Formats: sequence, C-alpha cells, structure tokens
Amino acid sequence: YHAKQRGERYCVFEPYLGTRVGERLRMAARLAWALEHDGLSLYFQPQVDLASGRLVGAEALCRWFDDELGAVSPAEFIPLAEERGLIHRLGAWVIDAACRQLAAWRARGVDFPGRLAINVASAQFEDEQLFDELQDALARHGVASECLALELTESGFMHDPDQAVAITQRLKAEGLALHIDDFGTGYSSLAYLKRFDADKIKIDISFVRDMLSDANDHAIVTTIIAMAESLGLSTLAEGVESRDQAEALRALGCPEGQGYFYSPPLPEEAFCRQWLVAE
Ligand code: C2E
Ligand code: MG
Ligand code: MG
Ligand code: MG
Repeated sequence: YHAKQRGERYCVFEPYLGTRVGERLRMAARLAWALEHDGLSLYFQPQVDLASGRLVGAEALCRWFDDELGAVSPAEFIPLAEERGLIHRLGAWVIDAACRQLAAWRARGVDFPGRLAINVASAQFEDEQLFDELQDALARHGVASECLALELTESGFMHDPDQAVAITQRLKAEGLALHIDDFGTGYSSLAYLKRFDADKIKIDISFVRDMLSDANDHAIVTTIIAMAESLGLSTLAEGVESRDQAEALRALGCPEGQGYFYSPPLPEEAFCRQWLVAE
C-alpha cells in the first residue's frame, strides 16, 4: 500500500512477472524505455601512468539508474541488451555520449589527455554500421578520431576473424585505437593478436587481483606483459587496488593501470574536478 499512498505507481502483482523470465522481460522493457528517454549515463574511470600516477586516458562505463529497479549493474544490463537486441542502440548511444563529452570538455577549456575508451560489444563490432556510426558521431561533435579508443573483448574477433581483421584495419586507418579488453579470459590465439594490430592489451582483473599471493597469476601477468612487449603492444592492468600491485606491475614492465587504487568510475563532474585541469 506504500505505492498507493505515494499516489503514483501501483505495485500490481501479476503471477508471470514473478518468474525470472518475467523479471528479465520487464527489465528489458525498462531498458528500452531508458534508451529512448535519456535514461543512461556514462561514468569515467581514470587510466594512469603507473610510474607517475598521471592521467593518460579514461574508460567510459555505462550506468543505468532506473526509477523502479534502482541502479542496475552493466554486468546485468549489457548481456540483457545483447540478448534482447538492444545492444546496437545502446552502443550507438555510448558512442554519441562519449563524443559529446569530449566536445563539451574542449568547449569548456578542459584538457583531456590521451584517449577516451569506450566498450564495444561483439555484436556491435561485427556490424557494418559501427564504422559509420563512429564517423558520424565524431563529425557531429567535431571530435578527432585520435581522441577515442575502442575496447573489444577477444570474443569479438573470434566469430569471423577475416571480417574482424578487415573492420579493424578500417578503424585503425581512421585513427581510432583498439584495446583488447579482459585479455586472457577469452579464447583468442596469440597469432590473432598479431593479425589484429591492436594497440593495447588490458590485462584482466582476475589475474591482477591475486598476482601478489598467487604464483600462477603472477606468472600469467608476467607472461602477458612480456608477450605484449615483444609484439609491440602496450599493456594496461585492470583492477589495480593497491600500491603494491601498482609497483609490481610497473616493475614487470606494464606502463599503465586502472583500478580502485587510483579511483572508481566517477560521474562527469567528479571526474572532471579530480582529474582534469582547465587550460
Ligand atoms: P570492463 O570493460 O572490463 O570494465 C571494467 C570493470 O571493472 C568496470 O565494471 C569497473 O567499474 C570495474 N573496476 C574497475 N576498477 C576496479 C577495481 O579496482 N576492482 C574491481 N573489483 N573492479 C574494478 P562495470 O562498470 O560494472 O562494468 C562491467 C562490464 O560491463 C565492463 O567490463 C564491460 O564489459 C561492460 N560495460 C560497461 N559499460 C559498457 C558499455 O558502454 N558498452 C558495453 N558494450 N559494455 C559495457
Ligand atoms: Mg572495458
Ligand atoms: Mg575489462
Ligand atoms: Mg571485465
């Protein structure tokens, strides 16, 4: 009766909505609504130079705060969007929002160093439209392609490697950078890495987390960094939560990191205040 008292929404109980499937359908419907009504936002997590602690870029992470569902984790709504055919619209929104933000910082005389990295879902990457969407958004907001990086997981180029190589080459020729996200958790072979001409490997958080206590994780991190280096790729460690991790990673030759030790993902104002300087 609380809902009634507030005089807005009724909490109507429909049996089928009590099921897991019903909940997912309801969530998908609300997500579709949010996409049409400016209901998503981007948070920004700093990416830093491990030696100096200075900002070298940032990752844009999608956030969804729903009136009824509250804050829904991207770990939940991104797979849902993929399942329900909403990922293309969501991805297009993220591309536009990231470019709009870069343009807004520049207009305010705020210096954003490096590249803003956006996550690109596999289905989005395999879609012919991605290239045009990126170009259109960059042009619409007057942003250079050198300001953006695309984070792609290994699964994004395993489905049709030849097509993926072609798409990658186009994106790279345009000036966009390509970062392999969650590296080490997928099934890509090392040979693909070379063919893809990626710029950076993001070492997955699952290896970084226990690298100081687990000898296997330490060995994996060490190997990824050495392999990347010999292929001419840069590395960035995800999920850096302590100074000891940051120092160990730097000593192993990993130049960049991202994680709670530096900052959680922040809303725009806080990110700007804490990490960006007005020119
Ligand atoms: P991801 O791209 O690997 O992003 C890194 C995730 O790790 C983020 O979770 C971030 O908040 C979290 N993280 C960062 N530092 C730390 C740390 O020190 N410790 C721990 N435990 N976690 C840390 P988030 O924001 O919940 O995003 C989860 C995933 O959802 C992302 O993983 C990405 O795969 C996906 N995602 C988020 N935004 C988008 C988007 O705009 N498009 C697409 N396609 N996927 C997105
Ligand atoms: Mg990412
Ligand atoms: Mg990641
Ligand atoms: Mg991840």
